[in-house]
Amino acid sequence: MVNPYETAKNQLADAAKELKIAEHLLSELSNPTVHQRDLVIDLDDGRKEKFVAYRSQHNNARGPFKGGVRFHPGVSEDEVRALSMWMTWKSAIVNIPFGGGKGGVVVDPKKLSKDELQRLAKAYGSAFVDVLGPRTDIPAPDVYTNSQTMAWMLDGYERAAGHQAPGAFTGKPIALGGSEGRDTATGLGGFFITEEIAKANNMKPSETTVAVQGMGNVGYTIADYLFKAGYKVVALSDSKGGIYNDGGINPELSRMCKIEKGMISDCYHIGSVQDDKESTQISNEDLLKLDVDILIPAALESVLSKKNADNIKAKVVVEMANGPTTPNADDILHERGIQVVPDVLANAGGVAVSYFEWVQNSYGYYWTRDLVNQRLEELMRNSFKKVYAVCIGQECSMRRSAYLYALKKVADAIELRGKEK
Ligand code: GLU
Repeated sequence: MVNPYETAKNQLADAAKELKIAEHLLSELSNPTVHQRDLVIDLDDGRKEKFVAYRSQHNNARGPFKGGVRFHPGVSEDEVRALSMWMTWKSAIVNIPFGGGKGGVVVDPKKLSKDELQRLAKAYGSAFVDVLGPRTDIPAPDVYTNSQTMAWMLDGYERAAGHQAPGAFTGKPIALGGSEGRDTATGLGGFFITEEIAKANNMKPSETTVAVQGMGNVGYTIADYLFKAGYKVVALSDSKGGIYNDGGINPELSRMCKIEKGMISDCYHIGSVQDDKESTQISNEDLLKLDVDILIPAALESVLSKKNADNIKAKVVVEMANGPTTPNADDILHERGIQVVPDVLANAGGVAVSYFEWVQNSYGYYWTRDLVNQRLEELMRNSFKKVYAVCIGQECSMRRSAYLYALKKVADAIELRGKEK
C-alpha cells in the first residue's frame, strides 16, 4: 500500500523544486503538526471502548486550518498528514481564506450504533476543543461522516468551550447554521469541473461515457448531475463492487436500490436506461479499467497505482476522492496521454461551500440555495480556467499547474508574514 503522506511530500517537493522554494519553507510545508487523543466512549452494552483520534494541522498562513474528519478503520497519522496538506493546496486553488487541516478516528462506523456514533462524535468535539475553533481550525464532513456527525461534534465542542460557536464546524444541518447547498457541493463542484474538461476536449455529453467509483455522497451526486446533463453513466460501484451497462445507468434509481439492498452490485437489474438491458456485475478494479471517456474515482486514496495504471483506458480522470492516484501512476498516466484533473481542483467544491457556510455563520445572515450554487459555479469554473490556462499548448499536467499555482500563493503568504521572532 502506498503511503499517502509520501505521495503528498513528493508532489510538494516537485513543485517546490520548480518554484525554487527555500529549503526551510519546504521543510515547514512537509511537516504538519498532528494532535492525537484517545476517545473513550460507553458502548451500548455497558463496556467502554477506546478509539484513537487525530487532527492534523498543516498550514494556516492564508487563514484558519480547514478540512474534514473521517471515521474509517484505515485512518492513520500519515493519512491525516497527507490529507491536511492537500487541503492547504485546495483552499489556495479556489482562493478561499483557509489553510489545511484534516482529522480522523480509527473506527469502523458500520459496527457502531447510532448512539455510539453520537458519543464518539461528541467526544471528538470536546477532546480537541483546545485546537479547534472558527478562527483556529474548522472541521467538516469527510469519509463516513455527515451533517449529523457535525451537529454532534459541534455540540461536544460548544459544551466544552462554554459558548456557541457555529462557525467552528461546517457541513452542519441547516437547522444548526449549515448552508443550503453544502450537501451537494462537492459533487456539484466536480460536475462543473467535468463539464469544463469535457468542453476543453470537445466531448459532447450524449457521446461521452463515464464510470464512477464510489456511491457515497460525492460519487452519487456527481453521477446524478452528469446523468441529468445527458452524459452516459455506464458504471457505478460502492465498496463491495459495481455494475456496468453500456446502454447507460440512472444513478438515482441505482441509489434507491442500494439503500434497499445494501450494495449496488445487487442492483444490476435496476436503473438501466434501455429497459431491456440488465447491467452486469463488475469489481471495483474492473471498473477502473473500463474503456470509458471519463473515469471518476470518488472513493478512497491510491486506487490508481503502478499496478493498474498501464491498463487504464479512460481519456480523462477526474479525481473526486482525495489522493486516488499515486505519483507512479500519475507519471504513467501522463506519459500515456491520459489527462488527470487533480483532486485539489476537482473536489474543492465542498470546502468552497464550507467557506460560504463559515461566512454566513460569521455574519448570521443566510443565503438561498440558488445563490450558493451560483457562487460555487463561478468559483469552480474560474478556478478550472486559471489552472488550465497554464497547461494549454504544452505537454503539461494539470496537477503540476495546480500545485505550482497553490504553492506560490501559500509560500507568498508565509513570506509576507516575515520571521517568527
Ligand atoms: N472533506 C472535504 C474535503 O476533503 C471537505 C472539507 C471542508 O469542507 O472543510 O475537501
